[in-house]
Amino acid sequence: MTATRVLVLNSGSSSVKYQIVDMADGSRPAAGQVERIGEEGGAADHVTALKQVGDDLAAQGFGLDSPELAAVGHRVVHGGTRFTEPTLVTDEVLTAIEALVPLAPLHNPANLTGIRAVRELRPDLPQVAVFDTAFHATLPEAAYRYAIDRDTADAHHIRRYGFHGTSHAFVSRATARLLGKDPSEVNVIVLHLGNGASASAVRGGVCVDTSMGLTPLEGLVMGTRSGDIDPAVLLHLQRSAGMTPDEVDALLNRKSGLLGLCGDNDMREIGRRMAEGDEAAQLAFDIYVHRLRKYVGAYTAVLGRVDAVTFTAGVGENSAAVREAALRGMGLLGIEVDAVRNAVRGSAARLISAKGSRVAVAVVPTDEELQIAQEAYSLVTL
Ligand code: ADP
Repeated sequence: MTATRVLVLNSGSSSVKYQIVDMADGSRPAAGQVERIGEEGGAADHVTALKQVGDDLAAQGFGLDSPELAAVGHRVVHGGTRFTEPTLVTDEVLTAIEALVPLAPLHNPANLTGIRAVRELRPDLPQVAVFDTAFHATLPEAAYRYAIDRDTADAHHIRRYGFHGTSHAFVSRATARLLGKDPSEVNVIVLHLGNGASASAVRGGVCVDTSMGLTPLEGLVMGTRSGDIDPAVLLHLQRSAGMTPDEVDALLNRKSGLLGLCGDNDMREIGRRMAEGDEAAQLAFDIYVHRLRKYVGAYTAVLGRVDAVTFTAGVGENSAAVREAALRGMGLLGIEVDAVRNAVRGSAARLISAKGSRVAVAVVPTDEELQIAQEAYSLVTL
């Protein structure tokens, strides 16, 4: 029997999501998640969570010992400058991912725990690390280098890396397919709007700019992250407000964004509150949209010619209000949304631009698991 199944593991900071993807037909015979790791009522730690994933899979008849498994694909958040391609895990690769922990202190350790847990149970099974930063490795230096002292930046590996790369890669390619073109022929602005959010500018299939930076904190307004902010605010909070670096970190990553602005980070709840005339929710929405519009304008300038603007992830796929507000009045840029098409709900990739809009506007559901499975499978079956 040929092994055609790939287990995709996404070990996040507080959850482990898993899916089995059958590459023979793209089906998902098993999927699930273990949430609230380290929190009350959840798994105690990542090791416990991964044991539970193993048990869940076995209970569904897809134990790790299954001969049908061809590989395990892991989402690894930070690949630094070294990992720009999906990579077969070896001892040396593990050490290199470990060395990147200072750049992603919450995520890379969780990813490593997942890889080690599988290694212990099935040492013979090929494991492939697929990096969230990899798609952004093509950024030109003018886009990735911060305008700070070069020596300091280089000594501490400070530069823009970008994240959500698997999603930006998948969605930009799917957008080209939707337009009936090859990725090399189209320029796309991808707006990945989930709880975390990022924008990217993709020219002919190659990523040339992205909004997240050294860490996922930079760029768009997110569920709980501030996105772009004057760096002096951090200094001010430490010097004048007496906050510690950890407190500032928690403020900007977990208590800011939509949550910090109005007390809710779920766009559905914000929409409900806006409908009732809630001013804080309305302002949070307006700030979120204002930032998004600035990035669309900026990436239009970066790309010169834009063929499509594509929305993806929880907010991008579901919130017609965000999509409408984000692109309203952009006729001069050639971007026109069709109100009726935009309002139609759906789970398939679709166009929402008006007839005659020079730039296509699309909604493309992201599928990071499929992309990771494909990359892992093609690496082990080469
Ligand atoms: P992540 O993978 O980053 O956790 P998702 O891509 O699943 O996030 O997006 C989650 C977010 O999507 C939720 O916090 C919510 O704000 C938004 N969302 C989900 N469904 C809807 C909907 N029907 N309308 C508006 N927003 C939605």
